[in-house]
Amino acid sequence: MLKILVVGSSNTDLVLRSSKLPKPGETVTGGQFFQFQGGKGANQAVAAAKLGGQVSFLAKVGDDAFGKQALAEYQTYGLDTKHVIIDSTAATGVALILVDENGENSISVASGANANLLPEDILAAEELIRSSDLILAQLETPLSTIEALSDLAFKHQKKMILNPAPVMDLPQKLLQKLYFITPNEHEASYLTGEKVDSIDTAKRAAEILIGQGVKNVLITLGASGSYYLGEEGEFHTPAPKVKAMDTTAAGDTFNGAFLVSLAEGKAFDEAIKFASQAAAISVTRMGAQVSQPFRKEVSI
Ligand code: ADP
Repeated sequence: MLKILVVGSSNTDLVLRSSKLPKPGETVTGGQFFQFQGGKGANQAVAAAKLGGQVSFLAKVGDDAFGKQALAEYQTYGLDTKHVIIDSTAATGVALILVDENGENSISVASGANANLLPEDILAAEELIRSSDLILAQLETPLSTIEALSDLAFKHQKKMILNPAPVMDLPQKLLQKLYFITPNEHEASYLTGEKVDSIDTAKRAAEILIGQGVKNVLITLGASGSYYLGEEGEFHTPAPKVKAMDTTAAGDTFNGAFLVSLAEGKAFDEAIKFASQAAAISVTRMGAQVSQPFRKEVSI
C-alpha cells in the first residue's frame, strides 16, 4: 500500500450550545460545552487513518494542553504524529463555536501554530516527502507553505492532491504541479468564475482548471455527489441517499477516503465511490472526526 502524507491544520474546536447566541456585551448562561479535534488537515488525516491508510501528518501545534490532547487522540486512530512540530511560540489553533437551539452558529478562529507552519518546515521535511507517495494538503496553513510543498512534491515526482479550502486565489505555477484538485461547488466557482451548481457547470469549471494545468479535477457537489474530469475521462458519481444529520467535514472525510483508495491502487472511479460512501456515512452522524467511519463500516 502506498504511503500517505497529509500536510495541514490542527485545531481544537470548543463548542458551546445554548438557547441563543449572545449579542455584543451580553452573557448567556445555561449552555452545554463540548470539545472536539478539528482543522481540515487533521480531519482529512484522521479520516484516512480510520479507513486503514498508512498516514503521516505534518502540522504544527502549540506546546500546550490542547496540542498534547490532539496528538494523543490522533494516535488512537493509528495516525503517525511524529512529524507534528511543537511550536513553543504560539498556542494550538482554536475555533470557538457558539450554537443556538436552532443550530445557527457563530464561529471565531485563532489559527495559532497553524499560521507558523512555514516553507522552512516543509524544506526540513524533505526526507518525509521523499519517502511518501501521495500528498494531501488544504489551505488552512500559509499559501507559501503549500507552494513549497508542491515544489518538493514535484521535485520528487510525488502525487499531490489539493483540497482548496478555505478557497483563495491560487498561482498557476501551483496548479500546474497538482495531480488532483478537489474543490466543492463554492470553491470551484471561486477558482474559475463559473457558477457551479450542476453537473454541466461543474464540467465547465473543471475544463477551466484543466486548462490551467491541473491533471485531474474532482468537484464535490454535496448530496448530488461529485464530478470528475481528467486523465481517466469524465464521470459523475452520485452520492448514496442518506438521512443527513450533520454535514460538518463531509468534504474532509471524502478527501481522506479518496486517498486511501488511491493508495490501494484503485482506479479513480472506484476510489470516488469509496470516498462517496465514507462521506455519506459521516453525514449521518454528528461531529467531524468522531463521525468518520472505520474501514469495516464501508462496504466497498
Ligand atoms: P464540503 O463538505 O467540503 O462542503 P460537499 O458538501 O461537496 O463538500 O461534500 C463532499 C462529499 O460528501 C460529497 O461529494 C458527497 O459525496 C458527500 N456528501 C455531502 N453531503 C451529503 C449528503 N447530504 N448525502 C450524502 N452524501 C453527502
